[in-house]
Amino acid sequence: MSLRNISKSELLSNFDTYLFDADGVLWTGDIPIPGAIEFINELIENPQKTVFVLTNNSTKTLEQYMKKIEKLGFVKIGKENVISPAIVLADYLKSRAETYADQWIYLIGTENLKNTLENEGNVRVFGTGEDSIRNYTQGDFIHDLDLEKRPKAVICSYDAHFSYPKIMKAANYLKDPTVEYLVTNQDYTFPGPNPAIIIPGSGITSAAVSAVTGRQPKVFGKPHQPIADFLLRRAKVEAKRTCMFGDRLDTDIMFGNLNGFTSIWMPTGVHTLEDIENARKNGQNDRIPQFTHQFSI
Ligand code: PLP
Ligand code: CA
Repeated sequence: MSLRNISKSELLSNFDTYLFDADGVLWTGDIPIPGAIEFINELIENPQKTVFVLTNNSTKTLEQYMKKIEKLGFVKIGKENVISPAIVLADYLKSRAETYADQWIYLIGTENLKNTLENEGNVRVFGTGEDSIRNYTQGDFIHDLDLEKRPKAVICSYDAHFSYPKIMKAANYLKDPTVEYLVTNQDYTFPGPNPAIIIPGSGITSAAVSAVTGRQPKVFGKPHQPIADFLLRRAKVEAKRTCMFGDRLDTDIMFGNLNGFTSIWMPTGVHTLEDIENARKNGQNDRIPQFTHQFSI
């Protein structure tokens, strides 16, 4: 399987807007990809060019994420140019103040996501942290459904404390069809420092809740529409002059293809050339990138 390398000079002459996935494209874990900082800096210093980092990682607040970016050496990226599903989801809740202002939300997610939703989305959030079967006497789940809180939405994201009681609570809240089912992102894995180790991602929580409830969530991250709409509200983006760099076929590359951007697969993350070949064999055309690229070093 071969994929044409798009050169740096083609990138500079063909596009005005450059969208970068983060993990697996700009860095892996805590190590910058060689050449990424220099290329991003060159683009940002050019007044004709616009750069956005579109990450599906919703486990940090924007302030924490900016600290990470800065520590890794990407010092020129501004916080208005970083977008995650957490930011898009908080914006959605805030824009629906008539439904959500000061209302309860049940969250399967991190404390940092809770802070983002409360501070930027103007809602009250419960459910984070440990909720394990050890906390219950047998058959006692139903009494602990926090029914007096009556959440207006259930949100699923990455949660290292994911558990049976959390699935049960989410499913029972979602029995009410007026309770919205919202999801940050559905990456089933993400890369850790050791590529031989599989790390389950955010997608597993909504996979379980969907299986139990039969409900389809509204998903905010790549490749879904809300993050694209948010980007288009924030910047003037001409699809034909926009490229999307990503390592995952089902999130980044699909996001680029669905929005008419030029999709560029980077070999430094989760998916491999073999995965692209398999997507081709399976007729999953929206997951097939147009180009690949290697940052010059
Ligand atoms: N979700 C979680 C929980 C992560 O930790 C990561 C990467 O570290 C991702 C998703 C993927 O992030 P990105 O879209 O920047 O590759
Ligand atoms: Ca990635």
